[in-house]
Amino acid sequence: YDDRDGKIWMDGKLVDWRDANVHLLTHAMHYASSVFEGERAYNGKIFKSCLHSERLLKSGEYIDVPIPYTVDEIEAAKYEVMQANGLTDAYVRVLAWRGSGTDMGVASQANPVRMAVAAWEWGAYYGDAKMKGAKLDISKWKRPSPETIPCFAKASGLYMICTMAKHQAEAKGCSDAMMFDHRGYVAEATGANLFFVKNGEVHTPDPDCFLNGLTRQTVIDMLKEKGIKTHVRHIMPEELEGFEQCWLTGTAAEVTPVGQIGDYNFEVGAMARDIAESYEKLVRA
Ligand code: PMP
Repeated sequence: YDDRDGKIWMDGKLVDWRDANVHLLTHAMHYASSVFEGERAYNGKIFKSCLHSERLLKSGEYIDVPIPYTVDEIEAAKYEVMQANGLTDAYVRVLAWRGSGTDMGVASQANPVRMAVAAWEWGAYYGDAKMKGAKLDISKWKRPSPETIPCFAKASGLYMICTMAKHQAEAKGCSDAMMFDHRGYVAEATGANLFFVKNGEVHTPDPDCFLNGLTRQTVIDMLKEKGIKTHVRHIMPEELEGFEQCWLTGTAAEVTPVGQIGDYNFEVGAMARDIAESYEKLVRA
């Protein structure tokens, strides 16, 4: 991803893609003092753009990385990057981090917080799983308690276990991993939320220790409009066996049906397909 043409917005100006570098003694590299957003633009418009920028600022507050930009400035930066790279359909990545400076210890209040925006084309997150259903491994890594980490922040540090879980999943031929939370309830995948269907009703884990995704919220509204009863609650692992359909939601994942989690199988059923199609229409509306 580093050696290519294009422009990246860094700290207020566009730089050549290849020159978008930071110093080795960047605080974030050593101590995970960074937060980010993943967004998708469709037909030149970023879906829920302002909500993503607001979440970024909130994530920064959670982990004491105060971002020196307003929502409007972040919005302008994202569109500037899309335009500079000639993109209308794109994945947009905004990153804010504590940089290098006078401190190199754990405390780093004096080091400036920096921000960058990159955008590129990114097709289906799970490849052809949209039709067949994604295959998920069950991870041994648990989503942590809100008392151990600011779990509602989209903070890079939280992705360490996600990367480990996803590497393990891919080594087993799966596209992603489902994770339980610290209490043993079904939580989410490594970068997407989960929904299940049983007897025509939808069940989705209560996001009380993980990211309540914007796509998740959009899909819950969509289900309400369609008159489909949705239960937001704690889901026990043994319930997986009784669910008929399952799908993942996320900005990158969009709505992707799931065919398998561990040894449990799900059909890529009518509701999963309908929600995936409705989401596709909505983001392009
Ligand atoms: N959970 C995690 C861990 C994620 O990284 C993401 C992607 N941001 C999501 C859920 C889904 O969030 P959203 O729908 O806002 O993209």
